[in-house]
Amino acid sequence: MRIILLGAPGSGKGTQALGLAKDYGLPLLTTGEMLRVAVQEGTAFGKRAAQFMNAGALVPDALIVDVVLARLRQADCAPGFLMDGFPRSIGQAEALDRMLQGAGQALAHVIFLDVPEEELLARLRGRGRADDTEATIRERLRVYRTATTPLIAYYEQRGCLRRIPGVGRVEEIATRIRSVIDGLAA
Ligand code: AMP
Repeated sequence: MRIILLGAPGSGKGTQALGLAKDYGLPLLTTGEMLRVAVQEGTAFGKRAAQFMNAGALVPDALIVDVVLARLRQADCAPGFLMDGFPRSIGQAEALDRMLQGAGQALAHVIFLDVPEEELLARLRGRGRADDTEATIRERLRVYRTATTPLIAYYEQRGCLRRIPGVGRVEEIATRIRSVIDGLAA
């Protein structure tokens, strides 16, 4: 089963992704985490990516797409995967579609965790991650609105978008997501 978790920074998709990957036995691909590891290791890719991450900007598609698609081609992803943080732009979604189509594969669900912007701001301010300064928080939400929200319509048109209210207790939200994946909810 191929699942994408879509949502704003602070929507809780990272937390949900960990639980879902475990419950469904799917390899979890978290691009933010892959990037943070590359930055820590000081690779050439990490050094280039860091400039964008520290500014709250997206790492350019040309840098990130090949890394993610290479990971998806590994054997453990053949039966399915759960992706957190990718795609984040129409260009990335199209690159993923081309790869899946080429392999005769399709996405089962794109789970969109819907959280109001005031709630996102409050959560991001309370998180205290190194790239969570007030300026980068605002920039990341702006980038999300302009680059990533068009994916909602993109996947709606393809019939795989599942919109889930992302407010409430973590376990409540997890139950909503699981019932969609298990086919118990529309
Ligand atoms: P995250 O942990 O998902 O919030 O990601 C942290 C940072 O990594 C983001 O602010 C971006 O700079 C970068 N990043 C993560 N995933 C992507 C992606 N799919 N495309 C471009 N940049 C990304």
